[in-house]
Amino acid sequence: MPEMPEVEVVRRQLEAHILNREIESVDLLHSKITRKNPEFKEFMVGKHFSKIERIGKLLTFTVSNNQTSQPEPVYMLAHLKMTGQFIFVDENQKIGGGHSLTAADFELPHKHTRVVFNFKDGSALYFNDMRLFGYLQLVSPAEKEKIWNNYGIEPGRDNYTWDNFKAIFKNRKTSLKALLLNQKVISGLGNIYVDEACFRAGVLPFRAANSLTTAEKKALFKHCSDVMMESIERGGTTFYSFLSADGKKGNFSDELEVFDRAGQPCYKCGNIISKIKHAGRGTHFCSTCQK
Ligand SMILES: [Zn+2]
Repeated sequence: MPEMPEVEVVRRQLEAHILNREIESVDLLHSKITRKNPEFKEFMVGKHFSKIERIGKLLTFTVSNNQTSQPEPVYMLAHLKMTGQFIFVDENQKIGGGHSLTAADFELPHKHTRVVFNFKDGSALYFNDMRLFGYLQLVSPAEKEKIWNNYGIEPGRDNYTWDNFKAIFKNRKTSLKALLLNQKVISGLGNIYVDEACFRAGVLPFRAANSLTTAEKKALFKHCSDVMMESIERGGTTFYSFLSADGKKGNFSDELEVFDRAGQPCYKCGNIISKIKHAGRGTHFCSTCQK
């Protein structure tokens, strides 16, 4: 399942390739993906994507037309969930953007292709989703705002400040890990990155959130952001055969210090990395380096 850095990599690559290409037609191969919106296909014809934003793991495309007297913008929310992938094929039939599970996914369309945006210039954007949990949903500006407001502070956004970060710990009786995974409080951090940030900050993920000292919170504030930004710059983490848009494998996996390293020696102290189930998730830590 792609995490936030992988989704950001997809966003950047799609934005570099698909903006302002006029949509000539849409092939809707499974109506569940568009939340059974009967007008999705017709609405998209003649439009183009003018911007792609992201909050957490939610991609948000601005859908525009070419008229000057344009009605208010509409947004297309896109969530990849477990197995969603965008693959862009340009006019020379080269893969340009999206993400994939196997090389076979590049032979398009295939049996898991759910939506195809055919652009006027001959290029196309494919949305594939084996499990059908992903979606492409048209929403109004008011609906977009409402949905965006459900996300908490996020590394990389203006609201990720020390004052806002320390405030999320107030009156929290949950564990640190449960708190950091709660997207309504702090968005963007998934299982991999919470474990890594806790290791770097030297705190055990199953500690009560309200037991952390100011120094520990300050370390977490820095490392929660650092792991996300580093992963984005490295192209994401290669798990479950994730391929980024240009077909290159993400390589933040080389930087992982605890995640997926249970039973192996800690790079810092040589102690064996432990793995337990906590907050419903596989949780990795070094019992020597983390307190
Ligand atoms: Zn250690």
